Amino acid sequence: MSVVLSIQNLSKNYGQVQALNNVSFDVPKGSVFGILGPNGSGKTTMLGIVMDVLNASSGKFLWNGEEGSTHTMRKNIGTLLETPNFYHYLSAKKNLEIAAAIKEKGKEEIPTVLEKVNLLERQHSKFSTYSLGMKQRLAIASTLLGNPDILVFDEPTNGLDPAGIAEIRELMKDLNRQGKTIIMASHILDEVEKVCTHVAIIQKGVLKTTGTVNEVLSGSTQQNQITVSSIELAAENIAALEAVLREIAGISNIVIESGSITIDAEESINPAKLNQLCFDKGIVLSQLQLKKKSLEKRFLEITGGKSDR
Ligand code: ADP
Ligand code: MG
Repeated sequence: MSVVLSIQNLSKNYGQVQALNNVSFDVPKGSVFGILGPNGSGKTTMLGIVMDVLNASSGKFLWNGEEGSTHTMRKNIGTLLETPNFYHYLSAKKNLEIAAAIKEKGKEEIPTVLEKVNLLERQHSKFSTYSLGMKQRLAIASTLLGNPDILVFDEPTNGLDPAGIAEIRELMKDLNRQGKTIIMASHILDEVEKVCTHVAIIQKGVLKTTGTVNEVLSGSTQQNQITVSSIELAAENIAALEAVLREIAGISNIVIESGSITIDAEESINPAKLNQLCFDKGIVLSQLQLKKKSLEKRFLEITGGKSDR
């Protein structure tokens, strides 16, 4: 696995407030990496440090294996940390020309980046006539000037309506398919679950867990060695089914409700095996469903369900 960004023991204090406390994780190349945490958990601080807008109190970070950030390295990263100021009375194209001049990039890329965010057809419309999603897509277009391989976004769907949110999520997946590594901060679980391949969950400046979204969902990260999945089953005779389940090693948390039973099963107990074990005991299952834990459930388990500060 090639690592784009390695965060090593980063801490940051604002006077008495410890915004980051010894955080370490790696962002793999080609991932959509979500930094997930409630408001005030330190996400913006983290992005500010790796983008050299803020100094860390201690620890370090490496972009593509290099400490600090060289000019060449910096040119390979497109960022959207706060909403850029576009001129309302100018067209998208004109606004990007101004952005390109500020960033010292050529104008010739403008059609390409507008195409990437699907705004080429509307390039001559005034910014003021754009929907919220289009405005944010234009902001993302400006981060694409210079064709960086890495994109860093802070809460990219904040303030958007549902249509705008959907547009931005699609765009991020699209950009990732085009080979870009995307690092984004978000406080929205659903967003991370839908868009990201990897996640680091932080709470009050402390890293709680990190891994692929699937690993974190199933609880099989280094912090949690045993994979436990949730399985829902039913049979005509629920009591008999329950009795059989209680005899099987590796099953815990047996909960009976309204005609079905939900269990937590260790990795060795997959649905096929469970079906066989029940059948051997004379029980024909009328229902058998593997339920992935939602990131929300895992998130609440990991963080204890409290919001920060
Ligand atoms: P997030 O982006 O996850 O909402 P932030 O990184 O903005 O979190 O903030 C983390 C913590 O640091 C919060 O408690 C916040 O109040 C505090 N903080 C952020 N910026 C400053 C600052 N410039 N001065 C003092 N405290 C700050
Ligand atoms: Mg923030």
